[in-house]
Amino acid sequence: MQPRGWQQAWRESVRDPRELLRMLGLEHEAAAVPAEAVAAFALRVPRGFVARMRHGDPADPLLRQVLPRVDELRQVPGFGLDAVGDAAARVARGVLHKYAGRALLVATGSCAVNCRYCFRRHFPYGDESAAAAGWAEAVDAIAADPGITEVILSGGDPLSLATHKLAGLPGRLRGVAPVRRLRIHSRLPVVLPERVDDELLEWLRGLPWPVAVVVHANHANEFDADVDAAMAALRGAGASLLNQAVLLAGVNDSVDALAALCERGYEAGVLPYYLHQLDRVAGTAHFEVGDDRARALHAALVARLPGYLVPRLVREVAGDASKRPL
Ligand SMILES: *Cc1c(COP(=O)(O)O)cnc(C)c1O
Ligand code: SF4
Repeated sequence: MQPRGWQQAWRESVRDPRELLRMLGLEHEAAAVPAEAVAAFALRVPRGFVARMRHGDPADPLLRQVLPRVDELRQVPGFGLDAVGDAAARVARGVLHKYAGRALLVATGSCAVNCRYCFRRHFPYGDESAAAAGWAEAVDAIAADPGITEVILSGGDPLSLATHKLAGLPGRLRGVAPVRRLRIHSRLPVVLPERVDDELLEWLRGLPWPVAVVVHANHANEFDADVDAAMAALRGAGASLLNQAVLLAGVNDSVDALAALCERGYEAGVLPYYLHQLDRVAGTAHFEVGDDRARALHAALVARLPGYLVPRLVREVAGDASKRPL
């Protein structure tokens, strides 16, 4: 499944809101896209993801995740720049240690897609990538704390790094005996399934630890045959697959949408993990779903689905010892 290579597919991503809207037969919506919002956080969408959007539907749940809107320019009290306390959790360049036993590496600042609801729009990635120094600083920080048993590659999106860059990590980390698990948080298998190529699969197969890949899909329509094939290949390489979603107004804030997401993910071999309440980051308030409604949606999911298809509803609260169940 690699006719032209994932990096080329990534380079060919749509970056012009007008082009995106034209592809969907929505050119009349272009005037409503504020240049200021695009300048603050660029539009970026792989073409394969655009192909999963409904033609002619301005309310499409995939489009809503990526199209800049005028709401982003509103200042809303309570929505700030470091919503989840990352600055306080930093222990070395690109290393966040918030929770017992787990170190999170900000592997890179880039992503294949720019999700409008994301905290990343304000994160100072410039000098904060764990991969930048050949992983050395990050691995030193992990080795200095024998309590760390799991390393989480996050970002940005760690799979936006070339495989040869990823490959520098296990070489160093192998010598750190307490580390027993590797986890990769990535939206690429969903938004750019081309990324799951032979080189990546070979790298995964060669890792000395059990690997979990936590993908990120917010709506059932994000899955298609290419995504299914990417998930099957990841599982074939030995990875456990989990999904984390964000509860987003206008995207997945109905019982039907959430149940369909969990069931469709399972068909692709992915178990639900977390359903996150939105991080309260400036420019994202229009995506917020209130806690009471979130709890009601979650209760309805529990009533409808088998237990293993229900994600945990959580919020990240700065200073907490884990994600906080609602
Ligand atoms: C979310 C997060 C983790 C992972 O938490 P889990 O509950 O194990 O999924 C680890 N470190 C940081 C800094 C995080 O934000
Ligand atoms: S970090 Fe994840 S949610 Fe944020 S823009 Fe990148 S892919 Fe989207």
